[in-house]
Amino acid sequence: MIKVRNLSKHFGELVVLKDISTDISKGEVISVIGPSGTGKSTFLRCLNLLEVPTGGSIFIDDVPLLDKHTDVPKLRQKMGMVFQSFNLYSHLTVLENLTIGPVKLLGMKKVEADEKAHELLKIVGLAEKAYSFPDELSGGQKQRVAIARCMAMEPEILLFDEPTSALDPTMVSEVLAVIRRLSREGMTMIIVTHEMEFARNTSSRVFYMDEGLIYEEGTPQQIFDNPQKEKTKAFINRIRSLNCHITSSDYDLYGLQGEMEVFCEKHMLTRRVTGYVLHIAEELLVLQKDLSDVSLSLSYSEKEGDVELKCDSAGLPFNPLKEDALEDDIGLKLIRGRCRSVDYFYEGGRNILLLRIKGE
Ligand code: ADP
Ligand code: MG
Repeated sequence: MIKVRNLSKHFGELVVLKDISTDISKGEVISVIGPSGTGKSTFLRCLNLLEVPTGGSIFIDDVPLLDKHTDVPKLRQKMGMVFQSFNLYSHLTVLENLTIGPVKLLGMKKVEADEKAHELLKIVGLAEKAYSFPDELSGGQKQRVAIARCMAMEPEILLFDEPTSALDPTMVSEVLAVIRRLSREGMTMIIVTHEMEFARNTSSRVFYMDEGLIYEEGTPQQIFDNPQKEKTKAFINRIRSLNCHITSSDYDLYGLQGEMEVFCEKHMLTRRVTGYVLHIAEELLVLQKDLSDVSLSLSYSEKEGDVELKCDSAGLPFNPLKEDALEDDIGLKLIRGRCRSVDYFYEGGRNILLLRIKGE
């Protein structure tokens, strides 16, 4: 359906897209992930000619998009784009937002457009908001209207550029649910997103973008569980773990615990498990002999639902959780009770403690 060959895009001296080639079939759902500034938005914008590519070619259903004989407006109508900021017409009702395009651009009859719009509003769960104005809606509702408005133009391909990143966390899931529904109905979609769980569960393929390329691509399992290339690995690891470096005994314990709490919340750990994690991290730090160079890292294992806490500190060999030291210390016994495993080793002048905290 979409064929991209050697696509490049430069902004003056800046080479944003170097050489992108890919084929996307009908019904595929592609998630595009990667650090910011790697050209994810530019890639989407080139696909529907919001940006004119510097080189290469794009074919939509075998029609060359960049050929000067191509009817670009017609081809572009096959693609709808949903932006981070919803771009609704604030002086029009929700219904009018949905009908203006079909009536003015597709020449649809008003009654027909109205009927279609009501149907679409049902699909995105906003049937009762047809006569509201955008300002009367929450961010999540606005974005669902924006999606319905896109659908009203009967596109064959939907492009989403970070559709949830301008939303309050509480509203992310309602928008993702709508996108998921469209994917089940067989819509072809390309979604730039930072919602990794969503990317994993919903897409057929994941593109990791970096260095002006689709640096690595694969199934969600390949990209998230077994990335092959260095930068992909680094990116995936970074989003899956929290790293803190402590350099003196004056470290900010509450700040650290706050960050850990946010991390636990993001992975939907229970309050109880979050409490254990914070408590165990604090105990571990109290037990350190030397706080001049300690790294704590927290990572979540999706498979088992456990949390791994790694404490890596410089100094002479010293294991604060050694069995025989444990006998009469209740705090340490508690730690062991809450962990599936506790491993210690000494490597390259550093004490490494690996605790696997039970996820439930
Ligand atoms: P991403 O979406 O991955 O964060 P973008 O595609 O938005 O990345 O941007 C990639 C790079 O291109 C950035 O360095 C950005 O500043 C630059 N860029 C994007 N659009 C323009 C533009 N219209 N003019 C000049 N530079 C741009
Ligand atoms: Mg972007």
